[in-house]
Amino acid sequence: MPLPNYYSAPEFERAGLRRRDGEWIRARATDAASQFVPVWRSQNLVVEIEGGEPRAIVLAAGHAAPLLGEGDADTHLAHGRLVFLGEIEARAHFAIDLSAIETPLERLASPALAASGVSADNARFADLRQLAGRLARPEGALLALARAMVFWHQRHRFCGLCGSPTLGEEAGHMRRCTNPDCSTMHFPRTDPAVIMLVSDGERALLGRNKNFPPGMYSTLAGFVEPGESLEDAVAREVREETAIEVGAVAYHSSQPWPFPANIMLGFHAEATSTEITVDYGELEDARWFERDWLLKHADDNTFRLPRLDSIARRLVKDWLHRKAGPGSL
Ligand SMILES: [Zn+2]
Repeated sequence: MPLPNYYSAPEFERAGLRRRDGEWIRARATDAASQFVPVWRSQNLVVEIEGGEPRAIVLAAGHAAPLLGEGDADTHLAHGRLVFLGEIEARAHFAIDLSAIETPLERLASPALAASGVSADNARFADLRQLAGRLARPEGALLALARAMVFWHQRHRFCGLCGSPTLGEEAGHMRRCTNPDCSTMHFPRTDPAVIMLVSDGERALLGRNKNFPPGMYSTLAGFVEPGESLEDAVAREVREETAIEVGAVAYHSSQPWPFPANIMLGFHAEATSTEITVDYGELEDARWFERDWLLKHADDNTFRLPRLDSIARRLVKDWLHRKAGPGSL
């Protein structure tokens, strides 16, 4: 088995059947062994000590409950302030949304953080994306899931069909419209995007967006449109951005990408044309890069590969080293 991509967590048990059992969930929500993952305005709680790698901070039930305010576990679950994420080594994990609190670090302060072995001075809410894969992968995956679920709840408080309020069910994995004549169920969504390393023999097509860090070139990517196969989306995006035509398209691997709510579907694709015409609305530049040059060049401000936690980097690296695996071209 190839290594899982960053932000995915095969060791995580989502307990998809048990989470429908209200009694079981209520017991987990107050269980002293359960763990609570704070999310504040799309940021995650981490501790970072100078010179060290960041770590995720999770709270015990006794420290999480006062932060949720009035109401019991059912009320918090119904309003998406508490979302069951799953189990790690038989311990239930929940996301708790602290976005309503103006200064959550002050509220968390000493006892809760000390219980996690953390000094309040070193704790902060951080954008997971800025941590760029520096957390251990299982922690990155846990924080990504917590962030994605809270993000979805915050944006689905009303029914898209009739406009009535919705309330969470199934431990926060579904919201149902409260209008009895409607009762539409709404499920957490993740939007598919394709990302592809296009090659022409010994060279690879990489492009840069004007928002990228200096020198960074990456694989092309774009959203899948309704009524489109993944292969069609790969070919269309490459054609739109660079005018390159692709033939064979092979699936490589996927990566949850909760920025804010995507799943990246990675492909290797073979070009059938070579003349690049850059769409400057989408990209600042796109070029062919020789494999030998890419293998020799270390990241610097004139040229760098995408961030370490990205599937883009993995697509390039696997192509460079021609790692054999399912679907690699
Ligand atoms: Zn409705």
